[in-house]
Amino acid sequence: MHIFAIANQKGGVGKTTTAVNLAAALAANGQRTLLVDLDPQGNATMGSGVDKRSLHSSVYQVLLQLATLEGARIASPSGHFDVLPANRDLAGAEVELVDLDRREMRLKEALAAHRADYDFVLIDCPPSLSMLTLNGLCAAHGVIIPMQCEYYALEGLSDLVNTIKKVHANLNRELKIIGLLRVMFDPRNTLSNQVSAQLEEHFGDKVFKTLVPRNVRLAEAPSYGIPGVLFDKAAKGAQAYLAFAVELIARVNTWKENP
Ligand code: ADP
Ligand code: MG
Repeated sequence: MHIFAIANQKGGVGKTTTAVNLAAALAANGQRTLLVDLDPQGNATMGSGVDKRSLHSSVYQVLLQLATLEGARIASPSGHFDVLPANRDLAGAEVELVDLDRREMRLKEALAAHRADYDFVLIDCPPSLSMLTLNGLCAAHGVIIPMQCEYYALEGLSDLVNTIKKVHANLNRELKIIGLLRVMFDPRNTLSNQVSAQLEEHFGDKVFKTLVPRNVRLAEAPSYGIPGVLFDKAAKGAQAYLAFAVELIARVNTWKENP
C-alpha cells in the first residue's frame, strides 16, 4: 500500500482536483484506491459524488477515534474507489486534537489496520500547514505537490519543503517528496514555460513528466459529482490525469525493482 499526501499550503492550486482525478484514474487502471478527504471544505468528498451533508460518520470521527475506517468509508458512486469523507465537523478537529495523545498520528494509526485493502491511499490536504496536514504527512510515505507555474510558485514551495524536512527528521522517517505536478498549465504563456524550466532545473526528476493543462471540463466535473477523468474521458485534462496515473504506477514499480 502506497500512501501519498497531496499537499501545498496554498489554496486553489489544484490539490483537490488532483486527488479526485488521480484516485479515479488509478482505479481505472485496476488499482484499489482510497481517497481521504482531510479538508473541512469537503470538496474531494463532493467531487467524488458523496454528499458531505448526509454523512453519518466521517474522517473527523475517525481522527477522534469515535468511528472506525470501515464505519466511515463510502464507495464513490461515480468512481471505482473508496472515500473517507469530510465535512465542516473536521474544522473542530484541529482544536479537539490538541490535548490528545499522539494527535499527529491518528490518521496513520487508522490506516495501519487496512494495509491489505488498498494499493494506493491518497490524502487531500487542506491549504495550510496545520494539525490536519501534519496528520496527512505523518501517515504518508510520500508527498505529491501540485503547483501552478507562476512567478511566486517557487517561493511558496520552500515553506512546504522545509515542513516536509522537519516531519521527516522528527516524526516520519519514511516521508519523501514523490514529485511536483505542474497543473493548470498554459503552454502558450512564456512565464509558465520559464517557471516550468526552472522547476526542472531545481528539482530534476522530482518533476513529473505529465503536464496537466488548464481545461474547463476538469472545473465543470465537480458540480456533477463525477471525477473529470470519467466526466469527459476525451478532454485534454482527463487524458493528462490518466497519463499521470500511469506515470505514477510506473514510478512506484521502479522502487519494487530497486528497493
Ligand atoms: P485546491 O484543492 O488546491 O484548493 P482545487 O483543486 O480546488 O485546488 O482547484 C481550484 C480551482 O481550480 C477549482 O475551481 C478547480 O475546478 C480549478 N481547477 C483545478 N485544476 C484545473 C485545471 N487543470 N483546469 C481548469 N481548472 C482547474
Ligand atoms: Mg482543496
